Amino acid sequence: MKNIPELLAPAGDLEKLDTALHFGADAVYLGGEKFSLRAAAGNFSFKDLARAREVTRKYAKKLYLTLNAYLHQKDISAFRNFLKELMPLDMDAYIVSDPGALALIRDIDPDRPLHLSTQTNTTNAAAANFWREMGIHRINLARELSLDEIREIRTASPLELEVFIHGAMCVAYSGRCLLSAALTGRSANQGACTHPCRWKYALVEETRPDEYLPLEEDAGGTYIMNSRDLCLIDHIPELVSAGVNSLKIEGRMKSRYYLAVVTSVYRHALDTFLSSPQSYRCDPLWKKELEKVSHRPYGTGFLFSPENQGIQPQNSNYIRTHEFIGVLLENPDGQILVQVRNRFFPGDTLENVSPRMQRTAFHAASLRRHDGTALEVAQPNDLVLMDLPPSARPGDLLRREKPPAST
Ligand code: SF4
Repeated sequence: MKNIPELLAPAGDLEKLDTALHFGADAVYLGGEKFSLRAAAGNFSFKDLARAREVTRKYAKKLYLTLNAYLHQKDISAFRNFLKELMPLDMDAYIVSDPGALALIRDIDPDRPLHLSTQTNTTNAAAANFWREMGIHRINLARELSLDEIREIRTASPLELEVFIHGAMCVAYSGRCLLSAALTGRSANQGACTHPCRWKYALVEETRPDEYLPLEEDAGGTYIMNSRDLCLIDHIPELVSAGVNSLKIEGRMKSRYYLAVVTSVYRHALDTFLSSPQSYRCDPLWKKELEKVSHRPYGTGFLFSPENQGIQPQNSNYIRTHEFIGVLLENPDGQILVQVRNRFFPGDTLENVSPRMQRTAFHAASLRRHDGTALEVAQPNDLVLMDLPPSARPGDLLRREKPPAST
């Protein structure tokens, strides 16, 4: 049997790093304050990067730093200095896109493993092998490849291959879209996409500028440029047998709750496959669980049908059925308390979200502050002691089902 791929999760801050590790990521990718796409992804200060390195070492997990911005001439000197500053942190790899950045890293820090970002759009083995000669160790293949193409590249290239397994998709080649830069001045290629592909558009006649004629494909609105979110939970065996080395979850800007659920589902699926590949079947419960994070209708992207990837969803809305209630922390006395994110009341039905797909519903009871004072409501940022299920552990998350929207 092939090796089980690494599960690679995003971290937008130190809390999300903890969550990714708690819920089973083998490796985490994050960005520093400089030279990383995802301008608003809560990028890490140098101090935070050092802390992230410490934590991942402690748990023997890998840490990859994104340096995937396209450098302008004015950036070169600062980039060189940043590389020198980073060297003592000894990251497991840098993720790059720009050949100039690659050349500078090879000059200053020649032994650092290098991963090629999806922004470079590698779609064939000749390109993969070209990048290998340039010193790249791993390639994140373009999302636009089919499973057959991934297999062919695997056969023709010894490089480590990484593919996205879950998260948002673009209607453009990843990183090659100028819609946001053109309409808002915020460039997707600098990590600042405003997602205009998902906006609602209208038609305006030039002499009647205040009259908007809605463009409607149907009652759900207009979604000619909307892509489905990628979800490959049904296809773990195919990806393993294709020889993929790393399965990457998209979304440094996603919430801690999203990260916990998605990481735990894929961790569980991979572990289940590893323990019994012959009898492995995708459990419908895993898919139901992935429906409980904010997402747009799921699809398999280009994996099976590169000519007709069926990326138009039925409407442009996000699906949100559950809300993040809080995270469990341990206080110095060894008690577990809840750091509240959304308001809840005694008697509410909550669910404890633990690793290995453990989910435990319970009624919130006996809410109190650390000094023992009873609480009638738990508000965001409160630290609350309460009765929790016996399986609850620090690092677990609480959630609540949202009431159905009124019609
Ligand atoms: S506008 Fe849409 S297609 Fe373009 S980069 Fe942003 S998310 Fe992707």
